[in-house]
Amino acid sequence: MANPGSHTIVICRGYLDNLSDRLRVLMANVDILIVEDETPIREMLQMVLRQAGFEVHGAADTRQAAKHLSQRRPDLILLDWMLPGQSGIDWARRLRRDADFSDLPIILLTARGEEEDKVTGLDCADDYVTKPFSPRELIARINAVLRRFGKGEKPGIVNVGGIVLDPEKHQVAIDQRPLNLSPTEYRLLEFFLTHPDKVYSRTQLLDRVWGRDVYIEERTVDVHIRRLRRILAEFGRDAMIQTVRGFGYRFTARP
Ligand code: CA
Repeated sequence: MANPGSHTIVICRGYLDNLSDRLRVLMANVDILIVEDETPIREMLQMVLRQAGFEVHGAADTRQAAKHLSQRRPDLILLDWMLPGQSGIDWARRLRRDADFSDLPIILLTARGEEEDKVTGLDCADDYVTKPFSPRELIARINAVLRRFGKGEKPGIVNVGGIVLDPEKHQVAIDQRPLNLSPTEYRLLEFFLTHPDKVYSRTQLLDRVWGRDVYIEERTVDVHIRRLRRILAEFGRDAMIQTVRGFGYRFTARP
């Protein structure tokens, strides 16, 4: 069997930058627990899944994970097979026998080779992913399992660069923290989030956000943009609204 310590997850930088941009319809408030003893891998997974809009917690072994479960129920567990102490597979079997957690979706992380053969057809996990894997593959598997369990995939949710718009709640949040927006700021941000990476003139923004029939000076757009930037600056996201000199503004997930 390959040494599990030797596995690395190769994440393409460009992919990370584009991740939340590409996955516009995302899980809202889906909570994932990662149980992985290798800190760099765990942290990388946390970063990737957070970027994809998930709420993520980490545990280094099944003892920590069990403690976490006693306080907070995740929507899915990403569970490494090879863990110090109790193995991931043994813990998964135990959870399956536990009335409180028998229906909790589990995806096993395995190393290529022997583990992979053994895990095929297992009934204690809902799916397994073999290391090394791409973030895209992992997120696709997670989404597939969540769909099977009728979780996540809330339609209408828009996520651009970690700014999450929930039209149903009429709310925009960053890092799970709702923004305090006036109705106009909400509409402006909503327009930007649903029309990223394109330049709009002040007149176009007035037409699209304020409405054609309203007479407002173009300067008003600048005032609201300034306010919006100030709000986004609290989260280090103000550079997402770009001024295009001589034309107008552009909202981008990749400032
Ligand atoms: Ca491990």
